[in-house]
Amino acid sequence: MQKIQILGVPIDKVDMKEAVKRATDAIEHNKKYFIVTPNSEIVVEANKNKELLNIIKSADLVVPDGIGIVIGSKIIGQPLSERVTGIDLMEQLLIYANQNSKSIYLIGGREGIAFDAALNIKKKYPNIKIAGTHHGYFRGIHTGKPGHREEEEVIEHITKADADMVFVALGALKQEKFISAYLQRLSGRLFMGVGGSLDVYSGIVQRAPQIYQNLGIEWLYRLIKEPFRIKRMMSLPVFLINVIIKKEKPM
Ligand code: UDP
Repeated sequence: MQKIQILGVPIDKVDMKEAVKRATDAIEHNKKYFIVTPNSEIVVEANKNKELLNIIKSADLVVPDGIGIVIGSKIIGQPLSERVTGIDLMEQLLIYANQNSKSIYLIGGREGIAFDAALNIKKKYPNIKIAGTHHGYFRGIHTGKPGHREEEEVIEHITKADADMVFVALGALKQEKFISAYLQRLSGRLFMGVGGSLDVYSGIVQRAPQIYQNLGIEWLYRLIKEPFRIKRMMSLPVFLINVIIKKEKPM
């Protein structure tokens, strides 16, 4: 179980094949399994935010989501072979779920998004069982108002569904906070934060064309479509500069 440390954040040294193997082994062994998919923005944040760092450290699998992490790993001389993005990992897990008739629960996005995503997934992968769906705009831990009745209902809904895989799309940080806070109480096997992936599966958001994906510049496509993201995306150069500075410092 090799890990590398980037800016103090542990990342598992896995490629897509290994990540899928570990995740599906956990499901087969009926184990609770928490996956986080940090990109460079999250690593910069975790470097400053102890709560987030502890959540990442508590995860069973931390995959390198994004080209920034792969470049960073090369700078520190512990190269990762490829990026393992959340949405690509989710797709691989859906393929496995289809082959093995596993069940999924989708939570997140505006009203109807998780439901439409489930319909599209079912169309593409007919053997998958849809254990349940829920929108992502309930009040609770992810909005800083824990213990709210709405959230308790959500927890109950997920637990009753007892799905093999629970995909949580509340946006980065919120989804990890939510999973980590309730992991012990929730029934289900695999739990993973998937950001905007349900928007993509529902069809309201287009993923970047393959050429952008192959070049590792999906962020550029997203920036063109959603220019307001520029501030958040500035974290990539900040991340790389920090990695270089920390590397130069004697240990
Ligand atoms: N979202 C949600 N509840 C919230 C905030 C966000 O369900 O309280 C959803 C949002 O509708 C979108 C997804 O979370 O479908 C991801 O949002 P964003 O693209 O901002 O995520 P990030 O890029 O930060 O992972």
